[in-house]
Amino acid sequence: MAKVGQYIRNNSQFAYSIILIFLIPILIIANTLWQIRLSRDTMSLELQKKAELAQTMLQESVNDPLNAELVQTKLDKITESNSEVKEITVLKQTTDGFVAIASTNNDELGLKYSSEDYINAWAGDKSFSEIAKDTSKTPNERYHMMTSILKDSVTGKKLAILSLKISNADIDASNKKNLDYSLIILAITIFLVLLLLINQFRFFQYAVLYRKLAEVDRMKDDFISVASHEMKTPMAAIKGYLSMLLEGLAGKYDKKTQEHLLKIMASVQRLDILVIELLDVSRLEQGRMKFDLQPCNISDLVKQSISSFQDQAAAKDLKLMEKIPAKLPQVFIDPERLRQVTDNLIGNAVKYTEKGGIEVSYRVEDGCLLTIVKDSGIGMSEGDRKNLFSKFYRIKNEKTADIPGTGLGLWLAREIVRKMDGDIIVNSQVGVGSEFVIKLPFMKEK
Ligand code: ADP
Repeated sequence: MAKVGQYIRNNSQFAYSIILIFLIPILIIANTLWQIRLSRDTMSLELQKKAELAQTMLQESVNDPLNAELVQTKLDKITESNSEVKEITVLKQTTDGFVAIASTNNDELGLKYSSEDYINAWAGDKSFSEIAKDTSKTPNERYHMMTSILKDSVTGKKLAILSLKISNADIDASNKKNLDYSLIILAITIFLVLLLLINQFRFFQYAVLYRKLAEVDRMKDDFISVASHEMKTPMAAIKGYLSMLLEGLAGKYDKKTQEHLLKIMASVQRLDILVIELLDVSRLEQGRMKFDLQPCNISDLVKQSISSFQDQAAAKDLKLMEKIPAKLPQVFIDPERLRQVTDNLIGNAVKYTEKGGIEVSYRVEDGCLLTIVKDSGIGMSEGDRKNLFSKFYRIKNEKTADIPGTGLGLWLAREIVRKMDGDIIVNSQVGVGSEFVIKLPFMKEK
């Protein structure tokens, strides 16, 4: 967990995700509130327009002197057709304030008012509106109060004060509904974001694991590279002194000692091959293997390989031969590296064949030269063939138990051939033999 923490601290990606995770709900909340406010403003404006319309309707039908009965009829009509208009009162100025001469609320009729609002509105000849709350209701009902001056439609003389009370209840109810919906959506969003966060943590853990594996893999490559390099010098010294002993330069030795020395030499040679192969593996993996490509006749290399394994083949009574066609196209390869490949394939064929022989032949197919190393050896099953080109893979059965090897040869051979735009293909049958095919594009003659 501490490592996860360290990774997170080092990783700006995490900070970015956290910011996003908080920013998304904040933006959703801000947007919701802004939308609600916008719709409330629009609806308030609508209400105000209705109030103004009611005032205009009344204004058009009043004249000097004011007829209270006519005004009352008009007020009743207006409230009938506008459900939001809760109360309209018309107040006339008297010597000690304003008296309600017509109202949709009967309790108001005849009541006297001397409020500053009315006095100021009358004196300044102006309208004003405000939002008020009716605390007698739960939840409190909000009202839009509008006060304006009614004038004679011809002379413009001030006749009375018009007081309108419009309910905000519908707007508030719809806003509350919107808010409730938004809160539900917000809760779901936050829940989803939290799920995302948990998932993110899992990804972070995978990323940490991946880094760790890559690091371990790199360390392993470095170790192999350094260790095999460091082994080269002592190996050379051991081989040198062993040769000296075997040549008798350090004095005479008996038959038993000679046997022991030869066994040591065989083991040292196997160790030497392992070191060389390990060095090649690390060179290939780190892209440090150099290829000196040039036009070549592959048969020349095969001949060299065959002659170097001829003694081993003869010791097992195996025929080792090459079948060369009349015309062999040239390939563009690194001869030294390809010799390594032919050595491996021909060496394996000798190693894993008990009777019969090994034949190297050639075929031209689809712009490629195929070099076929065919043996009559122990062969291998389909299952074994699947992993054949994996590093350190060796087929384990009673036939291979006593045959020494590293399991690196075929991996190296295929990687080398692939670096030269070719490939290695294998066909095999248990107990019948194997066929390893080196496929390389040949050079077209000009
Ligand atoms: P090794 O050093 O073990 O020979 P290789 O990578 O060259 O490593 O070969 C991997 C395995 O493939 C061998 O251990 C052997 O079991 C099998 N193999 C390779 N060549 C042949 C062959 N010609 N016939 C049968 N088995 C083979």
